[in-house]
Amino acid sequence: MSRKRILTGDRPTGKLHLGHYVGSLQNRVRLQDEYECFFIIADLHTLTTKPEKEHIEGLTENIRSAALDYLACGIDPKKSVIYVQSAVPEVVELTLFFQNLVTVPRLSRIPSIKEMAQGAGIEEMPFGLLGYPVLQAADILLPRAHLVPVGKDNVAHVEVTREIARRFNYLYGDTFPVPDVLVAEYGSLVGTDGNAKMSKSLNNAIFLSDDARTVEKRVMSMYTDPNRVSADVPGQVEGNPVFQYHDAFNSDKKEVEELKTRYRAGKVGDVEVKEKLAKAINLFLDPIRERRAGYEAVNGLVDEVIYEGTMKMREEAHTTLALAKKAMGMASVWNRISRKAEEAKKKKAKQ
Ligand code: ATP
Ligand code: MG
Repeated sequence: MSRKRILTGDRPTGKLHLGHYVGSLQNRVRLQDEYECFFIIADLHTLTTKPEKEHIEGLTENIRSAALDYLACGIDPKKSVIYVQSAVPEVVELTLFFQNLVTVPRLSRIPSIKEMAQGAGIEEMPFGLLGYPVLQAADILLPRAHLVPVGKDNVAHVEVTREIARRFNYLYGDTFPVPDVLVAEYGSLVGTDGNAKMSKSLNNAIFLSDDARTVEKRVMSMYTDPNRVSADVPGQVEGNPVFQYHDAFNSDKKEVEELKTRYRAGKVGDVEVKEKLAKAINLFLDPIRERRAGYEAVNGLVDEVIYEGTMKMREEAHTTLALAKKAMGMASVWNRISRKAEEAKKKKAKQ
């Protein structure tokens, strides 16, 4: 029995941070033993909001940095595939087939698409951005994935994939699995500034690639309980970013409980809580740093991993597209003509 398949990934828009770790990377590392995982670095998706050449020029480095972040976190290239979306052109052909299986009103109703346009300062909806979930459907169904782990913001997109898969199977016969969505348990990790979401564009992130000194600096300037003017005032633990980070990254649970008790009683200063947090985050990041250094030490190794993964995905894509075209009857359209032409040519040559 072959393992069931997963497809998930990221747009290569920059370095990954602790929010990505708790929100997705952690899960991926765990899932790669049970499932055959395909991790897409979705560069074509960046064009929907950032089509300018200056952004395209940055893609190569961003792809490398995403892949290195994956590997550093423990994604194992012997078990899983990491690949570049734009290097598998079959996805574009599949997208075109899928575009006919979904309506414009259906896509227009997805709130996250409008939010993406707003976020990017785009006034009128580009065709490509409206079709974002259709391209995503092609990403997911190209390796014929059964399961799609996503954040809450992406659940509505996977629903479109499910509808497209069903519609395709109904029109052309059973071809694609109707994939299930696996929603990340962990909601959003707060930012160091107390903003609800750690986000690289909000400058409130601790990156997986930050060194120990940077982590210390970011933690020491973190937002805590704003009502607490001095260490002897009882503090609020709930909703306090410093303690949310302690819960997420400090493996010494006894220390965390003890700090919380003292904080509530006004018996510990913010500085001590933060120093212990910086230490805990650095401890958490150390094995990630070590793996990163290992990959960085070998010239071209990350590119090789991406290359091998992309080649493997290309084979899958070739198979899937052939299956889809056969089911649709699209394969025979040209086959009939080319066969006849070749026969005629041969005949002529004999004469
Ligand atoms: P940008 O600032 O460019 O929007 P970002 O840092 O918010 O970037 P995204 O690329 O928007 O990162 O995030 C991709 C996915 O990573 C999200 O859909 C979500 O699943 C996960 N993710 C990002 N930030 C967090 C976070 N703070 N907590 C939990 N999950 C997160
Ligand atoms: Mg974001």
